Amino acid sequence: MKFYAIGGYNEVGKNMSAVEINGEVVILDMGVYMDKIITLEEEDRKVPTKEMIQCGALPDDYMLEGKNVAAIVLSHGHLDHIAAVPRMAERYKCPIIATPYACEILKNLLKDAGVGYLIKNLFPLSTGETASISQNFEVEFVHMTHSIPHTAMIALHTKEGIIAYLNDYKLDNNPTLGEKPDYKRIKQLGKQGVKVLVSECVRVADEARTPPEYVAKVLVEDAIERAYEEKTAVIITTFASQIARINSIIKANKNEREIVLLGRAFGNYLVPASKLGLINLNNIKLFNRKKSITKALSGISSNPENYLMIATGNQGEPNAVLSRMSRKEYDFTFKKEDQVIFSSEVIPNPLNKSNRYTLDQNLREQGVRMLQHVHVSGHARREDHRDMLRMINPEYVFPNHGETERLASYAALAMDEGYKMGDSVKVLYNGAIVDL
Ligand SMILES: [Zn+2]
Repeated sequence: MKFYAIGGYNEVGKNMSAVEINGEVVILDMGVYMDKIITLEEEDRKVPTKEMIQCGALPDDYMLEGKNVAAIVLSHGHLDHIAAVPRMAERYKCPIIATPYACEILKNLLKDAGVGYLIKNLFPLSTGETASISQNFEVEFVHMTHSIPHTAMIALHTKEGIIAYLNDYKLDNNPTLGEKPDYKRIKQLGKQGVKVLVSECVRVADEARTPPEYVAKVLVEDAIERAYEEKTAVIITTFASQIARINSIIKANKNEREIVLLGRAFGNYLVPASKLGLINLNNIKLFNRKKSITKALSGISSNPENYLMIATGNQGEPNAVLSRMSRKEYDFTFKKEDQVIFSSEVIPNPLNKSNRYTLDQNLREQGVRMLQHVHVSGHARREDHRDMLRMINPEYVFPNHGETERLASYAALAMDEGYKMGDSVKVLYNGAIVDL
């Protein structure tokens, strides 16, 4: 068995790994590096795939040149796990297996990229189900919790053992949408014998467990109730793919104000989510095109106290609605004491940090009251990782989804648990090949 570390081993983003047995390969995730994508988008030109790989926006899959790829398997619908598919899947000519919600999101990405014909290669697989890929591989999706519905731990069954691919996850025993992680199956797999665990490590440095989404629901309810005590504009921003959170925001509104969703990303994530029954958008207005957003904000500006605006831009992305509002690009002016609730956290990349600094500064200068950290993370922290490592009890563990510092922090945890550095726990880098 060979393991290829392709992307996500030098950064928080562009996740891509692969497993080879008997000359046949299965790819695990195919994501983009959002930092670089946002920078390229500002250039406003069509960038060739080769250039995107060179500048680090896409994973560099040169190692798989000429290989027989049997399938691409995707863990969940976040862009740093699926958004390279429209650019890179073409050359592999193989089935693409993903959870139903990830498939729906991907359909739109493929259409937008002009490669809609690849939709016929998509195969939805729900958590709790198993599919045979070839004589060498069988794929099982184990139900997992994260910050987007339909997240799976991929269990890749092979003659040489099981590869458990756990990227991303949290251990949420009080989710507000969907079930707890499938602990029963995780423990069964652990007993059966897992050869390799590939685990994300985004928040491994925090010595804690990640609180459940239920906590975020209470935080959101409280923030909205108190914000409504003042008759000001209230804007809340969160990740467009955080469906459970958006459900909590809608409930917390208690029909007191008219809800408007502002931003392109809401169309991409909420329309498919409502199609699958994950959210109810009745009585909610969605504006996801430039012109319609401009028009909606003009209408809202005369009586903003009647609305709850849910806007994109929690990472301070310059092209998102909240940043544009803060730069006064719409016919909407913030008044002193208006309130902006951040139901989000900054994804730890340098560009996000700098973008958020600019956004926060603009809002402050206009006298806006900011409510930060109305949020819980979708990523496991150190003690969750410890629990998971004990349940899965793999022979080898490869941390991923982080730069070397984060991977090393996970490796230190694994060493605590009896793994040997460079032997049973390996800190890999993009381009590394491990012979097992
Ligand atoms: Zn994710």
